[in-house]
Amino acid sequence: MSRFLSGGLSALEAYVPGEQPRDKKYIKLNTNESPYPPPESVVKAIGRTEIEDLRLYSDPECKVLRAAVSEEYGIDRKNIFLSNGSDEILNFAFMAYGDKGAVFPDITYGFYSVFAELYGIKTDVIPLNDDFTLDVNAFCGKNKLVVIANPNAPTGLALELSEIEKIVSSNPDGVVLIDEAYVDFGAQSAYRLTEKYDNLLVVQTFSKSRSMAGARLGFAFADNEIIEDLEKIKYSTNPYNINRLTQLAGTAALKSGGYFKENCRRIADTREYVKKELENMEFTVTASAANFLFAKSDKIRGKELYLKLKEKGILIRHFDKERISEYNRITVGSREEMEAFLKAVREIMEETV
Ligand SMILES: *Cc1c(COP(=O)(O)O)cnc(C)c1O
Repeated sequence: MSRFLSGGLSALEAYVPGEQPRDKKYIKLNTNESPYPPPESVVKAIGRTEIEDLRLYSDPECKVLRAAVSEEYGIDRKNIFLSNGSDEILNFAFMAYGDKGAVFPDITYGFYSVFAELYGIKTDVIPLNDDFTLDVNAFCGKNKLVVIANPNAPTGLALELSEIEKIVSSNPDGVVLIDEAYVDFGAQSAYRLTEKYDNLLVVQTFSKSRSMAGARLGFAFADNEIIEDLEKIKYSTNPYNINRLTQLAGTAALKSGGYFKENCRRIADTREYVKKELENMEFTVTASAANFLFAKSDKIRGKELYLKLKEKGILIRHFDKERISEYNRITVGSREEMEAFLKAVREIMEETV
């Protein structure tokens, strides 16, 4: 840290992304990326001409991409916001709506508390129940910025649409942000409710279900006044937030028919298979609706399993955090990757007893 850093930032603890080591080739099950490539339409969308056009700025309004999202979801263009990864929307939302404070669960996406700290926002951190379910009533009537990941990370547990609606309708004077990074793997999206409630912001991303984490593309649905707020912040920070190639790739990806849904279905099938296999080894595994599993065993410490798998060339995510330090979050990869994972876990468990 330099002696020039502004006061408020010196104590800030930054978000720590999952490791991306280059020392050897790992089976990467630690950052919830897709094992499948983007659709062929994306490969075809970017050639020499498009690369030469990089000399030009990207379209700040993202007209073509916005029209494609509008068509895919049947939501008017003025109710759509596009961003450089969905983390950017989360950033903007904390910046825009945190004045009265922010409410989120104790166990959830680690970025929420970082943004709150960055903007000096008071937080009301509500503990999940012992089984990691969310106490819906505790999130009602807050009238502050309420932030909920659905399905939640790293537990994978999802709320019913009726529960989301209860939270949204009981907080008319606060924005309710539903982070749907994993919704395509088995939960119900709340995006249609943005037509009914002016305080609901539904955030999604191309990073997980649409196999494009490296393109950095997020999107959100909300009442057009909320979209205007987000646009105002975007034009005050980075008007060209989505680069030319990502706009092309995103548009092409949306026009690939059922490709991404088929991938989501394969991943959900693999998830259920791995869950059963882990349960056969006496692991406790949450009922995940996402593209990852959250599991612990009474026979091995969470951290130890993580380290032993790493030695065997398999990366999973361990959080050194109260209440969940015995758990690991395991991204659901391809069937072959998961067979290798299960084999390695079996070997480790045999060595352990
Ligand atoms: C991965 C993730 C995001 C962010 O994804 P982007 O790559 O920035 O779109 C947001 N929320 C949750 C809960 C996530 O797991």
